[in-house]
Amino acid sequence: MKRRTKIVATLGPASSDQETIDRLIEAGVDVVRLNFSHGIAEDHVQRAELVRARARAAGRAVGVLADLQGPKIRIGKFKDGKIFLNPGDPFILDIECQLGDQTRVGLTYPELIHDVTRGTTLLLNDGMIVLWVDQVMGKEVHTRVVQGGELSNNKGINRAGGGLTAPALTDKDREDIITAARLEADYIAVSFPRCAEDMHEARRLLRSAGGHGALVAKIERAEAVEAMEEIIDASDAIMVARGDLGVEIGDAAVPPVQKRLIKMARERNRVVITATQMMESMITNPIPTRAEVSDVANAVLDGTDAVMLSAETASGKYPVEAVAAMDRVCRETERQAHWENDNLLPEHQWLRMDETIAGISVIAASRLPIAAIAAFTESGATTLWMSRANTHVPIYALSPQVHTRRKVTLYRGVYPINFRLNRHDDPGQVMRAAEDELRRRGSVRDGDLILITIGEPMAAPGGTNTLKIVRVGDLARREAEAPGG
Ligand code: PGA
Ligand code: MN
Repeated sequence: MKRRTKIVATLGPASSDQETIDRLIEAGVDVVRLNFSHGIAEDHVQRAELVRARARAAGRAVGVLADLQGPKIRIGKFKDGKIFLNPGDPFILDIECQLGDQTRVGLTYPELIHDVTRGTTLLLNDGMIVLWVDQVMGKEVHTRVVQGGELSNNKGINRAGGGLTAPALTDKDREDIITAARLEADYIAVSFPRCAEDMHEARRLLRSAGGHGALVAKIERAEAVEAMEEIIDASDAIMVARGDLGVEIGDAAVPPVQKRLIKMARERNRVVITATQMMESMITNPIPTRAEVSDVANAVLDGTDAVMLSAETASGKYPVEAVAAMDRVCRETERQAHWENDNLLPEHQWLRMDETIAGISVIAASRLPIAAIAAFTESGATTLWMSRANTHVPIYALSPQVHTRRKVTLYRGVYPINFRLNRHDDPGQVMRAAEDELRRRGSVRDGDLILITIGEPMAAPGGTNTLKIVRVGDLARREAEAPGG
């Protein structure tokens, strides 16, 4: 059985050479993530090109996700690279400090001084270090160390409970959106959006830079959890960005929020990625912990479209093994899960013809032993609706559009196939060619049922209006049996 849940792998120093990229693709990566928090624009452009070249060589479509840095607030650098803080120590965040020491450090976001008051809790280095704000004096935030530890250059700062005013798109992000458009990213992730308008703005910037990609909202602020409905509606996909989210809302709140986000995204016809620390121990170990295996399996059971690797593949010792481990866990979980017919489709009114064909298709596939769904699609919309259903039936997206084929790499249970389609083709012949293609790939055998959806006339986006069920081999047999045939 094919894996339904998709795998996103972040590229970095451990995974940017051709050999490793080949092995990642071979191990099953569906989408690569370019992390704009690191490296220069040219690195990302080159990585995207290399990935696409190698994917083409392997006969696969691999999506590209450009992940913007966003207003991640960081401390500056230290004279000695790092310090050690003990509970009770006084410590100053000083916006004018150039090189920090045991008493103070600089900040990348001077506005922080307006966002904190006495009693605010600040979390550094993903919550490893906790500071309590004593008072704000001019350009200095005076704090007390509550939880100490080692603190090194450029570590991130979050405010417990959220409430930092930083806008979602920085000047650097605006530049990076242009780069993302240039490298034709299939997905662009916006970090720390607070509301729908942040997503609309990113979309406007991307479109005016000529980018066609889909917009991903990273849910990683307390405010974003409160505004999740409007943010989901303003986006094409969301990411459950558990790293920063856990720091802002507390680690214990993350699992239930993950479940709500996944459910809500799917109900609203959006795609969802579950991210961060999924196989964290594999940064240094060749196998995951039992807890990590369970975490990936539970995200699959929650219904996520994709699971994501960050440092595991970007800078870890075992990038390929981490992908292989995710692949193994997803497959086994999907094999044993019995969610079919149970909440098959989101409960809402169908508004369009193509949406109706998609909905009817997955219902048919749950009642009749359909081996595969073959959906002719220009934009991918039909396959997105289909993949919001809990079905085990593989959904093949047959599309002449390269951008569509790359986009659907993220959809759960959807597999792109390059298929030419012209307005004047005969639909009967086209469907027959699709049947041959699936048989040639070994996806179906003689006697299997295929459910085909298509639009007539063909090759018009949003035009799907026809559903047909064929038995593989029947047409060829009838032709052979026909007198004089
Ligand atoms: P990041 O986002 O890796 O860019 O910080 C993901 C997260 O916060 O979980
Ligand atoms: Mn983050």
